[in-house]
Amino acid sequence: MKRGWFFEIPKNLDANLLFKELKTYCSPSDVERAVLAYDYAAEAHKDKKRYSGEPYITHPLTAAYFLAKMHIDINIVIAGLLHDVPEDAGIPLEEIAKNFGDDIAGMIKGITKLGKLKYRGLERYIENLRKMFLAMAEDMRVMIIKFADRIHNLKTLEFHTPAKQYRIAKESLEIYAPIANRLGMGEFKGALEDLSFPYVYPEEYARVKKIRDNFISESEEYLEQTMETAKKELAKNNIQTIDVHGRKKQLYSLYQKCLAKNWMVDQIYDIVALRVVVKDLGDCYAALGIIHKLWRPLKGRIKDYIAQPKPNGYQSLHTTVFCDDGKIVEFQIRTPEMHDEAEYGIAAHWHYDEKGKAKIPNRDIPWAKELAKIQKEILNNMSDLENLKLDFFQNRIFIFTPVGDVIDLPENATPVDFAYQIHTDVGNKCIGAKINDQMVSLDTPLKNGDVVEILVDRTRKNPNSDWLEFVKTNSAKTKIKEALNNNKTNWLKKLIPPLKK
Ligand code: MN
Repeated sequence: MKRGWFFEIPKNLDANLLFKELKTYCSPSDVERAVLAYDYAAEAHKDKKRYSGEPYITHPLTAAYFLAKMHIDINIVIAGLLHDVPEDAGIPLEEIAKNFGDDIAGMIKGITKLGKLKYRGLERYIENLRKMFLAMAEDMRVMIIKFADRIHNLKTLEFHTPAKQYRIAKESLEIYAPIANRLGMGEFKGALEDLSFPYVYPEEYARVKKIRDNFISESEEYLEQTMETAKKELAKNNIQTIDVHGRKKQLYSLYQKCLAKNWMVDQIYDIVALRVVVKDLGDCYAALGIIHKLWRPLKGRIKDYIAQPKPNGYQSLHTTVFCDDGKIVEFQIRTPEMHDEAEYGIAAHWHYDEKGKAKIPNRDIPWAKELAKIQKEILNNMSDLENLKLDFFQNRIFIFTPVGDVIDLPENATPVDFAYQIHTDVGNKCIGAKINDQMVSLDTPLKNGDVVEILVDRTRKNPNSDWLEFVKTNSAKTKIKEALNNNKTNWLKKLIPPLKK
């Protein structure tokens, strides 16, 4: 698998560089599809510019390039190229489906919906996200593209107003990064966090960066030597090391640790950890033994995440040892497969190996189960927000307003139910509805993920009593009856004037 930092943007990034990358792992016909998608997107966005002044197409191009660098499945890359076409260029999804197939159009549909979710205070936002998770359980690939999209947006945040910078960065830090983490996508999580960190906590960012920079400049040489010693000793014992490298702790993650340790920085042993990649499971434990023979381990610091993986699937052996001169160093031992999982998590399942052979997509991955777990985790972390039980969501559908709010309704609910969920007045004055931009009758059953727009007539006085025949929610029923009764009483009041005192 490809390793390293995938979110660098080359100075000379253009479509050809993307195609060149794709050629290293895709078939010529797949590359050709990407060329078509690029041309299509470039044409669709041709009149638009980014805040940076660059042509808009640089954005989807960069997002797609990040994905291609990881050797991700071509359809995901193509969806990355096209991801803003419906939203920004107003081209309907059917067009995209016609040109690029249903699979790609389906992903873009998911992204477009995500894009419409707007931050309006944390509580509301978490609420929305929670529902969104379930609504998008159908296709996890959407998240991979969304992360690449967001990472590029974070990298070009400087061109926005401070308020917008803060909003986007905070949302990335608090919502996107934890999701990436939960999905085991370490590379994405690290990038999302470290790109957001300086905008949300500028002073803390500077402080932590200084701590890490100082540590590295003080220990670099020492760590080099330790790495060499370990490598030699492992080789002497017939353990083949595929890779030994130092990994710097990500700044935001270091910040979290500083907080946990009350800024007692000398108690943090993994500002730089030494990573040892060996060929198989047996070698992991063997390597651990050899390192422990070489250097004495700290008590209680040996962690076997192989036997007991972290909840996000992370596997490795961790140990902290007293190296020469009593210096303390953390080692992380793993196989290449564990390494891939740690960096890419769920994304690794759509990854192509070096020979361009898809070991994936693995259709058997239980995404829904994964998402249910995430869901639970989010719920657990929201003790102060109103508790909603998981089963509450069963047999519910999630409907989007045109501005991206999510309304949940029982199955087969209608636009009228939806209208009353938004506001009683919207219900009472509702005269028509559009589902996914199509005019429909008011009794049309809604489907999960529909975007619904309610047309109102402000002069309308009464709801229609016929609606009682088809509405599915009790609240709509009650409100319709209430409105009808009120009007009846009003009418009676007019007929029988109140007695004069
Ligand atoms: Mn975008």
